[in-house]
Amino acid sequence: MSQENKFLINIPQGAEKILERLNAAGHEAYIVGGCVRDSLLGITPKDWDITTSADPGEVKKLFRRTVDTGIRHGTVTVLMGKESYEVTTYRVDGNYSDGRHPDRVSFTGDLTEDLKRRDFTINAMSYHPDQGIIDEFDGAGDISRRLVKCVGDPLERFTEDALRMMRAVRFAAQLGFDIDGATAEAARQLADRIEYVSAERIREELVKTLVSPDPARIMTAMDLGLTARILPEFDRSYERAMEKGEAFLPPLELGFAPANAVLRLAVLMRNFGESPAESASAADDILKRLKSDNHTREHVVRLIRLQGHEIEESEAGVRRAAYIAGTDILDELISLQKSAAAAAGNETETLRLDSIGEIYRKVTEEGQCVNLKGLALNGNDLISSGIGPGPVTGEILKELLEEIIEDPSLNRKELLLEKALKNAESKRIIGK
Ligand code: ATP
Ligand code: MG
Repeated sequence: MSQENKFLINIPQGAEKILERLNAAGHEAYIVGGCVRDSLLGITPKDWDITTSADPGEVKKLFRRTVDTGIRHGTVTVLMGKESYEVTTYRVDGNYSDGRHPDRVSFTGDLTEDLKRRDFTINAMSYHPDQGIIDEFDGAGDISRRLVKCVGDPLERFTEDALRMMRAVRFAAQLGFDIDGATAEAARQLADRIEYVSAERIREELVKTLVSPDPARIMTAMDLGLTARILPEFDRSYERAMEKGEAFLPPLELGFAPANAVLRLAVLMRNFGESPAESASAADDILKRLKSDNHTREHVVRLIRLQGHEIEESEAGVRRAAYIAGTDILDELISLQKSAAAAAGNETETLRLDSIGEIYRKVTEEGQCVNLKGLALNGNDLISSGIGPGPVTGEILKELLEEIIEDPSLNRKELLLEKALKNAESKRIIGK
């Protein structure tokens, strides 16, 4: 294989050792895929994948600590010190009769065959310290042109594996690239095939797009006809805005929201219904459909439901909001409201929410009481003084907490106990 490029990649020691050991045993081995792409872009790769002519059995023989990650697809994870590397045998994918995975994969001794099965030219480069970059499909050219372009015929590649259409959008969003004309055209033609792909794989690419530096790229997925299949609610909300002659703000709002999955999903779906409650219920259905984890789903749903909750710009107001929304999502709720205000150009509200964020930081730093955990009195204290056990203890604690949220200076055990006893007495009297 010719040396196409003298570009030097600084690969980690562990990866270098793996290449050396495979080479010494007579096998070919290269760094491949995303890490070569990222290195050319000057981005530090997240992980370093290796492709080799050795079959999985041979790889396992050469290394002491390995894990059978995807042995059927030729992938063995090799552990080197604290790092781990996926080592995959050169592979040719068989027919994709279902449009999502190959009927069978077969191993090959030919690097070019392995590079050919990869999705995009920018992902189909390999590298060896002695040989430089092996770039058979002009991935480096597409990096300099900033293009996501299929290896080979895009119609064929998207027919084989429809997820690649979502991956094209995701890489465009992550890297700030465009999608090559023929590649985009093929996706537009084949968009309905995305329905063959599993919800988990679709969700993963969707979320990567949303948390990327350019989440507004989700509009490319709409333009290609992908969201109409995987997220028709999004297309409908767009059409509603157009019918009303309103600006469609979600692309802007996404850009104003910090890049975390919960928040950006909430921003995306906050107006899928006619009211916050309806939108929250739509989000719940969608995230179930996309097989999202429960934590993400529950947080997104709560944020959407609470989106209109007005937080007062004072310490007591912020404590009240923390109590109602929960300390686990108040930061996100503030960000959600801020992204809407910023996208709408409402500077006064943006500044007010900034100030609320500052107040919340102070409330947190000072450990001010915003929930039962912060109350100077607990259920056991009530029981030892003869109140409860039973629902009455919870009721009394809740009433005390609400009082303390308004006036933290009262958060002292003796005082609270006194109030509790009075309260219990009056309850009994009223109860009679
Ligand atoms: P990231 O930095 O997000 O991990 P990556 O390029 O490493 O990006 P992965 O999904 O980890 O992307 O895949 C690793 C490599 O495997 C890709 O660079 C590509 O060469 C190949 N690949 C992954 N998924 C597909 C697919 N669906 N079709 C073809 N090739 C794929
Ligand atoms: Mg990767």
